[in-house]
Amino acid sequence: MRILCLKKNEDHRIQRGHQWVFSNEVDTEKSPLSDFAGGEDATLVDAKGNILGSVTVNPATLICARIHSRQGNVPLDAKLLRDRLESALLLRQQRFSAPFYRVLYGEGDFTPGVVLDRYGEHISIQLTTLAMERRKEALLEGVSEVLHPKSILFVNDLHVRDLEGLPRLDEYCGEVPKEICLHENDCTFLAPLREGQKTGWFYDQRDNRLFAAQLAKNRTCLDAFCYAGGFGTLCAKHGAKSVHFLDSSESALSYAERNFQENAPKDAAHPTLLHGNAMNLMQELIDSKRHFGLVNIDPPAFIKKRKDIQKGLASYRKLNHLAVRLVEDGGILVSSSCSFHLHEDSLLEAIVRACQKEKKEAQILGFGRQGIDHPMLLSMPETKYLKTIFVRILSR
Ligand code: SAH
Repeated sequence: MRILCLKKNEDHRIQRGHQWVFSNEVDTEKSPLSDFAGGEDATLVDAKGNILGSVTVNPATLICARIHSRQGNVPLDAKLLRDRLESALLLRQQRFSAPFYRVLYGEGDFTPGVVLDRYGEHISIQLTTLAMERRKEALLEGVSEVLHPKSILFVNDLHVRDLEGLPRLDEYCGEVPKEICLHENDCTFLAPLREGQKTGWFYDQRDNRLFAAQLAKNRTCLDAFCYAGGFGTLCAKHGAKSVHFLDSSESALSYAERNFQENAPKDAAHPTLLHGNAMNLMQELIDSKRHFGLVNIDPPAFIKKRKDIQKGLASYRKLNHLAVRLVEDGGILVSSSCSFHLHEDSLLEAIVRACQKEKKEAQILGFGRQGIDHPMLLSMPETKYLKTIFVRILSR
């Protein structure tokens, strides 16, 4: 394997456990990036020649190398991928009794460039780097041996694939079903799989859904940005008085309705479906003087890139203000953000500001994170993205 050499003092972050090498950190006199083929294995060394690990290189991208092993001269091959898969699976099987979870969470499972979700016998995979795309066959070998799937969907319609020069058309192995059925928190959910746009299930919110539902008994609930109804359905199962589902996608709402019917107690009131833009609909609810015992807001990432922080922060503030206004006295707000660039403190601050404007007190009941099938690396803040804040809101 060729050597990729870092400049002096550029090894500290890597030594702490970070997995990315940026192109400006490479000593291109000793190891010109143009010498490397896209996706090639290399041994990474510091300026003194000490081995830091093994990487795959993409000379065309800003993140020009990603570490897959802390030993030198280790290729990213079928054996390594299989070992990583088994180690990741062990953790999931310890925590979950049924085969419904994220099996590989990219860097968090030491497999940069691959995310793999398991829905029983069906699997969906996102390959986000050229190196991983080139090792698709090696990965599939391990996946078939360890997970024995009936079908695999490669979800390729991802913005990050453009950066790596990869095509966006989805691919299939075996018979990929139109929808999948999964078990979570003692519920059975259906979700679309093969429909373009965002499909599948958001496993990352599993624990937060449960905590929200435990606070929902006898309350009226608004599940905004509900997708297939993961939060609202569980709230109904735990004794919520009523559930309003809100989403801009009609298909998502129909899944939410079906999931509710499948899991809610038989005598539960039929859910209300609100179709449209969340901020507009929430304003309309405020205008008609509606209040809810529990308001859950779980929007898509408002901040995708660093340069969007200010604009995105304004959206989080606006949304959280609307939500606070909709919570009845003594009610619960469950506020999530999946934007890596929004810090937990900024989300808290958005709630504090809203409460100040509305003259409310807020008690923090808990902080949620992504579930353990999305393990966060201590040394890689990029792997921590989801935060959920649970508060009780009281009049002053
Ligand atoms: N809470 C869900 C996941 C939410 S994903 C769960 O527990 O699984 C984000 C959802 O927001 C998607 O279903 C998407 O259709 C919806 N969405 C995106 N923009 C929206 C908007 N402006 N108004 C309402 N819904 C929106």
